[in-house]
Amino acid sequence: EKSKHTMVEAPEGFSGEGFFATKLTEVVGLARANSLWPLPFATSCCGIEFMATMAATYDVARFGSERMSFSPRQADMLLVMGTISKKMAPILRQVYEQMAEPRWVIAVGACASSGGIFDTYSVLQGIDKVIPVDVYVPGCPPRPEQILDGILRLQEIVKAEPLNRRGSEKYKELLNSYNIK
Ligand code: SF4
Repeated sequence: EKSKHTMVEAPEGFSGEGFFATKLTEVVGLARANSLWPLPFATSCCGIEFMATMAATYDVARFGSERMSFSPRQADMLLVMGTISKKMAPILRQVYEQMAEPRWVIAVGACASSGGIFDTYSVLQGIDKVIPVDVYVPGCPPRPEQILDGILRLQEIVKAEPLNRRGSEKYKELLNSYNIK
């Protein structure tokens, strides 16, 4: 007789009546991806678009990211929005280092991604000069839909990551290779 229970499709592994098996990595990836806690590092105009992204119309809560944190120790998704001056670069780097692993970074808008229109002696030409970036969102400013798209792309990265990639020696070497120029 056909079971009345709805079967959940396992991403990979075994499923059957009364049991479900999958890989721990996939379960953890799914949980992490759908509960990213943002730390908004907003210095100028792009931050205003993020305010709209948080509000009712765009509602970032739909993706599990409504819990804003203004402490690096209680956040795992750093959103950098706005012009970062070279004087501010060490502070951004310090904020990143204060976040616990696993942690991810989105560069929101042209200024954070590449310095944008401010090609001057005092502006950092992209935050990837000082910290690793996972997703770049283009635009000056990006619309809230683009910011949401960046978060959704990051979710895909998080889901696919092995549990311990960030803790590896190779990753630490990569981090140490970033220097303020
Ligand atoms: Fe402002 Fe454009 Fe820079 Fe965003 S990218 S902070 S909108 S100047």
